[in-house]
Amino acid sequence: MKGGPSQEDIRRHNLGTLLRFVHLRGPASRATLAESLGLNRSTIMALTADLTAAGLVREELPRKPGRRAGRPSLVVRPESTRVYVLAFDVGVDRLVVARVGLGGEIMDRREGTRDRDAEPGELVGALAAAARSLVRKAGPAAVCVGAAAAFPGIVRRADDTIMFGPNLDMGEMSLGDTLSRRLGLGLTVSICNDADLGALAEHERGAGVGCDNLIYLHGDVGVGGGIIVGGRLLGGEQGFGGEIGHMVVNPGGRLCSCGSKGCLEAEVGERTLLAHAEREEGAHPDGRAAVRAVVDAADRGDIVAREALHRVGTWLGLGVANLVNIFNPGLVVFGGTLRDVYLGSAAQVRSMLATGALAAPREKVRLRTAELGDDSTLVGAAEFAFAEVLADPVQVLARLRAPENTPVS
Ligand SMILES: [Zn+2]
Repeated sequence: MKGGPSQEDIRRHNLGTLLRFVHLRGPASRATLAESLGLNRSTIMALTADLTAAGLVREELPRKPGRRAGRPSLVVRPESTRVYVLAFDVGVDRLVVARVGLGGEIMDRREGTRDRDAEPGELVGALAAAARSLVRKAGPAAVCVGAAAAFPGIVRRADDTIMFGPNLDMGEMSLGDTLSRRLGLGLTVSICNDADLGALAEHERGAGVGCDNLIYLHGDVGVGGGIIVGGRLLGGEQGFGGEIGHMVVNPGGRLCSCGSKGCLEAEVGERTLLAHAEREEGAHPDGRAAVRAVVDAADRGDIVAREALHRVGTWLGLGVANLVNIFNPGLVVFGGTLRDVYLGSAAQVRSMLATGALAAPREKVRLRTAELGDDSTLVGAAEFAFAEVLADPVQVLARLRAPENTPVS
């Protein structure tokens, strides 16, 4: 028979819990930590000492003095400049690579546009070059504890392989391995679906903090979805779940990039909105700017733009109504280009929700735009990259500091 967890198991679990607390909630006093984590002060002191020795946190006097007289309680602060992850956001039109410090602050970033017809090799080269420049700038004392990328397509998580990038003209590609080798940091690069990461980010740091049942809808050229149920991301049998963009809302409707007809993506995606608004695709180098231009025109009273948003809002609302009936979310978050589309069509989305969703699940659902703005998917990649070190901080640092993992420059 297997015994219960050992003292060492408990200590490692508590180290992760404490680190996760200051990572997500920010600097906290020992007293706050003891109260929030349900541990006594001496345990907090011992855990903090271990994390300080590992270089993950530091203790310092509070920046704002407290009201109580006497010596102020020390504040435990994550070592944001020393400990970081690399986060990649691969969009159809744009690439973002960021160095994100422990605690979640974006310390430095590189952004570039991406040519829709570029070869996969060029994509990897651009990502690796940007990441290496961020690593160099971070300096030799800083330690990179993880790396992850958001990708707008179907990703096989088991080996970080892209199965299908419908709007990127890519076949199967082991992006994780390829990027990892090009980086040469001795780190695995995890690849995840962008909308799943957007859901994770909004849940942990954005509009969905405190809401354990939420749906995040992400618009790029296509439409993706991330579904959080009971605080956990819904993956399905192989992790391919949540492809909300390919839910058929209009049978026999517009042809979709997946080969089907009338998918949500085909009815509300960037190309359709631009076509309804009688705007030429490619007039803007960046799809997000093109979508924003339609919403701005509608705000200024442009009838064609208003009508385009009304049509798209109808299908978007119908899609949301279906999701509300099936998942009973507390919150639906619109991110990427759908953030602007929703702002320009909220009345129609709400009207379709009112007629299409059952009264009971509809009653409590809130509709919001992504609080993290254009960075939802990037922040999600960073959070994913931090997951391992937050689960077992000391073990991960020990492995990274092993001599065989010293980067070759
Ligand atoms: Zn489709």
